[in-house]
Amino acid sequence: MVPRRLSPGASGGGDTYGGYRARLVETLRVQGIRDLAVLKAFAEIPRHLFVPEAVRHRAYEDVALPIGNGQTISQPFTQARYLAALRLTGREKVLEIGTGSGYQTALLGALAATVFSVERVETLARAAQQALRLAGATNVSVLHGDGTLGWSAYAPYDAILVAAGGPEVPRPLVEQLAPRGRLLIPVGARGAQTLTLVERDDAGIRQIPLGEARFVPLVGEHGFDA
Ligand code: SAH
Repeated sequence: MVPRRLSPGASGGGDTYGGYRARLVETLRVQGIRDLAVLKAFAEIPRHLFVPEAVRHRAYEDVALPIGNGQTISQPFTQARYLAALRLTGREKVLEIGTGSGYQTALLGALAATVFSVERVETLARAAQQALRLAGATNVSVLHGDGTLGWSAYAPYDAILVAAGGPEVPRPLVEQLAPRGRLLIPVGARGAQTLTLVERDDAGIRQIPLGEARFVPLVGEHGFDA
């Protein structure tokens, strides 16, 4: 699948990082990521544009990296598992909570039709917007605000992905999920959660635990206190 609306020069000057990116994709494949669309997205999105200069030389290592304001860009393997679980086809309208660096937003942009992303830290939201522009991602929009309230203006969403761990599934997010939509969120205590898949079908809401996760806290009205 070709990522939508990414300009040919998106990877930057002559694509110096192409080889590193190919190696990252190989690392993901060896660890069991088999979803071809997901692997293709990792092969095409320039992660180095989403990390601070100080750690740019490590941009294609399969590790989480600091992005400022006490936040991190997640480990690619974790993101790949997460994205594969959403089973996107390229036609979806997606809501992401916790833009962070914007890297995952760009991956989602390559895997879905449109992406709306909410970030509560204003400086991160601004930096992410800039990086996304530089990467040539035009089917994504970033909002500064409390993502536990969702983004009602564009609801309902076919998929919702929460990149921070909350004490419960925020009710507004369930309400903004389309019929047959999928919502992924780490639920539990600060520092130790269960990655939870919430599915909405004709019978109602189902919650399926997918394993342990460790994400930064989801802070907001339907999350933890700041
Ligand atoms: N996936 C991101 C990393 C996300 S880290 C990446 O690829 O870089 C989690 C982010 O969630 C942090 O930036 C944090 O500020 C944000 N966050 C925490 N609570 C939030 C809330 N209520 N609404 C929006 N963003 C929130």
